[in-house]
Amino acid sequence: MIARFLARLLGKKITRSSRLKRINVREHGITRNHITQCALKVTDTLQQHGYQAFIVGGAVRDLLLSRIPKDFDVATNATPEQVHTLFRRSHIIGRRFRLVHVLCGNDTIEVSTFRASAQHEHHAQLSDASGRLVRDNVFGNHESDANRRDFTINALYFDPGKEEIWDYCHGMEDIRQKTLRIIGDAGTRYREDPVRMLRAARFAAKLDFTIDAHARAPIAELAGLLKNVPSARLFDETLKLLLSGHAVSVIEQLQSEGLQHSILPVLSPLLENENSREFIFAALRNTDERIQTGKPASPAFLFATLLWRPLLAQYQVRLAAKEDEHPAWHAAMQDVLERERHDMAIPRRLDGTIKEIWLLQNRFEQRGGDRAWRLLSQARFRAAYDFLLLRAETGEVEQALADWWTHFQLADDDERKTMITALAPTANPKKRRRKKTAPQPRTEPEQHE
Ligand code: ATP
Ligand code: MG
Repeated sequence: MIARFLARLLGKKITRSSRLKRINVREHGITRNHITQCALKVTDTLQQHGYQAFIVGGAVRDLLLSRIPKDFDVATNATPEQVHTLFRRSHIIGRRFRLVHVLCGNDTIEVSTFRASAQHEHHAQLSDASGRLVRDNVFGNHESDANRRDFTINALYFDPGKEEIWDYCHGMEDIRQKTLRIIGDAGTRYREDPVRMLRAARFAAKLDFTIDAHARAPIAELAGLLKNVPSARLFDETLKLLLSGHAVSVIEQLQSEGLQHSILPVLSPLLENENSREFIFAALRNTDERIQTGKPASPAFLFATLLWRPLLAQYQVRLAAKEDEHPAWHAAMQDVLERERHDMAIPRRLDGTIKEIWLLQNRFEQRGGDRAWRLLSQARFRAAYDFLLLRAETGEVEQALADWWTHFQLADDDERKTMITALAPTANPKKRRRKKTAPQPRTEPEQHE
């Protein structure tokens, strides 16, 4: 009862705001049909109980740009507890921000309560010495919720009940002008959350928008603040950036502005190295292509590629120290993953897959007898083969070897037998002399089964 009264009160206050523009469906073209069933169930239920409820953020932005939204987020004036009591299959999550996840079938809708912005007066937000917010869970009204968002195009609210868009920050205009404009003072907003600088780069590249001058100017100076961001969050954001389908253009854009060092702490040491650079760009081009054509791109594969050249270097160091090939290779894998874990926070759960992809690489050359067949039946064959293609593309292995495997996969059993018999004797590992200086490390054929 009180909540409904408050909701109505807040609603009134908002509609009186001078900055608010309410845009009807004839002008913006988004209807309920564009919204998933689950998201509609959430907003309809909340509205039926007297709360305000909107689709917000990336989904509205993407629909306005005729793109398919990744997910639908809901913003409401109901508290997390109030939301939770309305949906049987829901739970409250998060510590820094308390949110509710509402489940229907396989779909999950994230519902967040309107929050106050950092500049809000009655404010209990906590920030550290650099101005970074470490806690900001203060509820606010609709307008403050719009103002605490990062970019104007991310602060558009769609009301599925009325099919209306609520725009407090001139987001519609910026969508039309293809401009990424930050809400509020750029320096302050980046200090509050340095990750917004990475988000700026990601959205500009992904949407092909221009970062407006005010939002761009402080980045060069403030990019170093990213090192204060907890590494797990940085990992998440880096992953989003690298898996955005536009990783190459994001990185090129950052490089052309000399920002790659501080803005991409994770990648810059790898990019600085001429040797790994080419391989990384080939890997990112490949990942971009996969994502743009709707193919899966796994984080494990991506990190296997990013760390491949450092791995080879580490292996050479160990060989030079007279270690045996096999233990040197295993130790080098471990070294590289542990070293990067510190800066990148690559989750340990990815280690297994990354190592499998690496370990399978040398088995591609060992095709004699039934080896090729056995390799083909490995769970990670496909990922390892994609990796091989990359190595061929960058001249690390013969293109003929990659082509052989492409052909072998497509061939029928008879043809496969012929292909194996036709192999030159040198392809049989037992008859070949190993060179310690070989560019790629070697592993024992069966060690990973
Ligand atoms: P996408 O999901 O396509 O990457 P998105 O805009 O939906 O893009 P999310 O990370 O899902 O991004 O966040 C949802 C919304 O939350 C954003 O649109 C924005 O309004 C707000 N938001 C997210 N991160 C921040 C941030 N660091 N600072 C301020 N607002 C943010
Ligand atoms: Mg989103």
